[in-house]
Amino acid sequence: MKTISQYNFSNKKALVRVDFNVPIDANFNITDDTRIRAALPTINKILADGGSVILMSHLGRPKDVFEEKYSLKHLVKHLSYLLHLEVQFANNCMGDEAKQMTKNLQAGEVLLLENLRFYKQETAGTVSFAEELARYGNVYVNDAFGTAHRTHASTTIIAQFFPNDKMFGYLMADELANINKVLHTAQRPLTAIIGGAKVSGKISIISNLLNKVDNLIIGGGMAYTFIKAQGGKIGNSLVEDDKLDVALHIIKTAKEKNVQLLIPQDTVVAAAFDNNSPTKTCDINAIPDGWLGLDIGAETIKTYEQIIQQSKTIMWNGPMGVFEMSSFEQGTKKIAEAIVEATKNGAYSLIGGGDSVAAINKYQLANQVSYVSTGGGALLEYIEGEKLPGVIAIMQ
Ligand code: AMP
Repeated sequence: MKTISQYNFSNKKALVRVDFNVPIDANFNITDDTRIRAALPTINKILADGGSVILMSHLGRPKDVFEEKYSLKHLVKHLSYLLHLEVQFANNCMGDEAKQMTKNLQAGEVLLLENLRFYKQETAGTVSFAEELARYGNVYVNDAFGTAHRTHASTTIIAQFFPNDKMFGYLMADELANINKVLHTAQRPLTAIIGGAKVSGKISIISNLLNKVDNLIIGGGMAYTFIKAQGGKIGNSLVEDDKLDVALHIIKTAKEKNVQLLIPQDTVVAAAFDNNSPTKTCDINAIPDGWLGLDIGAETIKTYEQIIQQSKTIMWNGPMGVFEMSSFEQGTKKIAEAIVEATKNGAYSLIGGGDSVAAINKYQLANQVSYVSTGGGALLEYIEGEKLPGVIAIMQ
């Protein structure tokens, strides 16, 4: 892997694509700076070598023009604080100001460019736009794992202008190493836990995982599609009627491949999608009419805990229920705790995907698992096909 560790940045201007797409409140305060902190090792390494850093990022989904709430200028103060230096800011990622500021940048200095997505050329992957950005520096570093699955100008297209000077930053290299560990060199038994709302978004990841894992645990809203497909009664639970055959196919393939597929036995049901609604636990195949399943039940939790405890490698993506509501969070919380317990006993655990990361943070257990990925879509696409345009662009 081409990473920054072997490279000497002395007197180099490094153009670094980071993922500073952080949540910002109405007063422009950063409410979670995890992604900024994750990029610090790469920035500090370049500075320590005697290089300078030009940071490129997107923030939010602006409509191809300047929008105050998506301006990266709101990050400058906090980034300066984290780096212990005064970060410079270019009000536009294109044009004279950016050109001058990048030209004048001295060793040891850091410049942040304005949001790349104020130009539609960024997401369109326009070559001339990427070339313009490429002129600012003489080395390209991609440290934005969260956008590595996008063929955007700054994440993929730009790499061609640095045939001999393109590489992964520490975060990106770390992410790839951790996922590869699960996909290629996992200690067995290997267990994947897949939850979340829908089967449709996760069919190809499940199909690929069936080639790799010993146990596949299903939870969350997608479980009811599996139950209905097998003839169970699911009341008003979330279901994708056009995916019943897909669910049956997954069940059949798991059998053929000797993968233990675990589908919930019992479920916490409610009369309405409401935290204050009356609840009860019932057999997941016999949900009363009018009720809907919003979490896995106690029996299922017990079964899943046992499987997790016996596993040597665990990958988790997607909550077991509507964990945002306290009445339906037990399944997700207990699974998170079981993963922590298994990790303490020597298992390797990787948590990835937006909602499972939100859950592990909610229960303040992020530092008690082996690795928490910063990538949602990128992580899933990597597991699905192991080909991310941003990764290929560096490897080629
Ligand atoms: P995803 O983005 O597909 O990972 O789905 C995450 C969302 O699924 C979370 O917001 C959960 O609240 C939701 N979810 C989990 N279990 C259920 C369920 N049984 N019914 C409806 N939504 C669910």
